[in-house]
Amino acid sequence: MNLSIPIERIPRVGPFYLKKLHGMGIKTIGQLIFHFPHRYEDFSNITDISKVKINETCSILGKILDIKNIKTPKKKMFLTNALIEDKTGAIRALWFNQPYLTKTLKKGDTVCLSGKTISGKSGTYLSSPSYEKISSFEDKELTHTGRLIPVYPETEGLSSRWLRYIIKPLLKNDIPEPLPKEVLNKQKLMPIQKAIHQIHFPDSIDLAEQARKRFSFEELFIIGLFVLRERLKINQQRSPAIPINLPLIQQLNNSLPFKLTDAQKKTVWQILKDIEKPRPMNRLLEGDVGSGKTVVALMAALNVAKARHQVAFMAPTEILAKQHFQETTKLLQDFGLNIGFLTGKTDRYVSKKLKTEPIEISRKNLLEKTIKGEIDILIGTQVLIQDKVKFKNLGLVILDEQHRFGVEQRAHLCQQPELIPHLLSMTATPIPRTLALTIYGDLDLSLIDELPKGRKKIITKLIPPSKRQESYSFIRKEVKKGKQVFVVCPRIEVSEKTKDFLDWSKAKSVKEEYEKLSKEVFPDLKVTMLHGKMGVKEKDKIMKDFKNKKIDILVSTSVIEVGIDIPEATVMVIEGAERFGLSQLHQFRGRVGRSKHQSYCFLFTDIPSQKTRQRLGALIKYQDGFILSEKDLKMRGPGSFIGQRQWGIPDLAMNVLTNPSLVKKTRETAKEILSKDPNLKKYPLLKNKLDQFQEKIHLE
Ligand code: ADP
Ligand code: MG
Repeated sequence: MNLSIPIERIPRVGPFYLKKLHGMGIKTIGQLIFHFPHRYEDFSNITDISKVKINETCSILGKILDIKNIKTPKKKMFLTNALIEDKTGAIRALWFNQPYLTKTLKKGDTVCLSGKTISGKSGTYLSSPSYEKISSFEDKELTHTGRLIPVYPETEGLSSRWLRYIIKPLLKNDIPEPLPKEVLNKQKLMPIQKAIHQIHFPDSIDLAEQARKRFSFEELFIIGLFVLRERLKINQQRSPAIPINLPLIQQLNNSLPFKLTDAQKKTVWQILKDIEKPRPMNRLLEGDVGSGKTVVALMAALNVAKARHQVAFMAPTEILAKQHFQETTKLLQDFGLNIGFLTGKTDRYVSKKLKTEPIEISRKNLLEKTIKGEIDILIGTQVLIQDKVKFKNLGLVILDEQHRFGVEQRAHLCQQPELIPHLLSMTATPIPRTLALTIYGDLDLSLIDELPKGRKKIITKLIPPSKRQESYSFIRKEVKKGKQVFVVCPRIEVSEKTKDFLDWSKAKSVKEEYEKLSKEVFPDLKVTMLHGKMGVKEKDKIMKDFKNKKIDILVSTSVIEVGIDIPEATVMVIEGAERFGLSQLHQFRGRVGRSKHQSYCFLFTDIPSQKTRQRLGALIKYQDGFILSEKDLKMRGPGSFIGQRQWGIPDLAMNVLTNPSLVKKTRETAKEILSKDPNLKKYPLLKNKLDQFQEKIHLE
């Protein structure tokens, strides 16, 4: 079967369901049959009616002797009452508020019912059982009853029953096997046809698990192939070999307003040693928030720029790009470089020559200067990788908290694509080793594992509702001392609908909180809000005002998560703290404590369950992002701290990333296959899957 057939071609999928499925990102038959259940209901216990026990989940096969709808006395509720008989006896079944049932189930029908038995006033009955009509007692084609039945992740308006009804017939088609035969044999994996059937309609829990294992393996294997193939591609490329200019580095080091930490020095050195070689650097610089990654990157940038090669420096948001631009022009002001600033919407300017203020120039002019090689360092957002931007001799690309960046994308920026730039990627997300190896296997890792000296430990507290007022008084005192405060809320407004296991309708919103704080709690202080739906200019102005201390309290969503530097901010308040992962909370906390002042992080929570308290307690105990991420990994799974979408890691792979032996096996297998067949000529289906994966993670 062609898995890329669009779902609108399935006869039973009408416009209503089509819209729902599209909303879930399901557009093809392939995507639909790869929408897996997250658990099973065990209805496999088929029992003679005479042997039915009370308070037990069971299935019965029988004939409907009678079925009718009754309105309850208060007329508020419909009751559907049926009597079912098999060779051994009869039992009643009751459904509540499903009057349409009598349109489907009729007297004389042979049915299978599965559900729980309850003892009522007039005897034992099956309470709201799952039901399906069957052709005879020997019918083994059960879908909703009498077996292990799949339950799919809850989605608005799409019931598991409907999904079973749609998916089951599709499983009869031939499903092509992407995994090489030798891999299936060697790893003892279930072939796809059987696996896809067993993951949806398992004959036993064991078979369901084997099926799941197969798909987990497949997903990890694809990631393994991707990472290795990227590495092979890189190794075939060349980059400019840029010698280390030691006096220059020394000069910058001496001009810094602080002393580099040993960890910073070590990583600068690793980067410079890489850039010295004609082989493209592919390095990830990992360091906790505030560990000082920017200056490390700037040392490399200076070395490259002074060797007459250009540098591109990319940040995820305008605010951060601007901050980098300001820091770069400040720290490198004595070095006579042309530094450009290019973003999506705001002004573009370039700082020229020695110690001059940035001036505005047109985008056209800036792009021309870039292609002529007159811009030494170009800083900006994703616009840097747009078609129009070309460099004359790009030597280094620096990415701050960015997504993956493929070899092709690197080549694309250059005029001579045979010479690609070195790549330095930076992240503050501390990633546990197994995970790092899996998703960054093609990158060399540099770690800044110490914070600059003199940073004070951030005092972190869990604040229950009863202590809220006290915290507000404390905040007022801090503000009176000239300090500033961040308040982070889980969402922007009240009406927002978010699919989550937590009840988001109760989550604090920026707008509500802003109203409350500015009008009731701190009417005398300057309170402002910031969120992602605001325009770039507006956001920029607010951040500028906050930096210039025109704002005391900034209420925002997680937009402030990465990188922003406000030295006078000493209090971080997080509303609905239980809704965030530890690593994310740690990132928020990293927004304060960036100076010598004592800083505080208040975790406000309205539901301090034992579990919440324990989880958030880790934040009070540990200040180290790595320890917290390991804990997150154990408690919430990997998805909670690396943006799942950002890395394009499929669900099943996510769940098994914590299984080192499986991760290792998939990597080894990927290596074996690629060493024999680097272009996957023998495995077109596999290559197809790999290309799709690559496209997905480079696009997002
Ligand atoms: P991050 O790693 O989170 O990106 P930054 O590079 O933004 O951190 O640095 C955070 C702050 O620390 C900046 O204000 C920077 O100038 C300062 N900084 C960097 N290195 C040091 C150091 N060795 N000693 C003191 N301050 C430093
Ligand atoms: Mg940073």
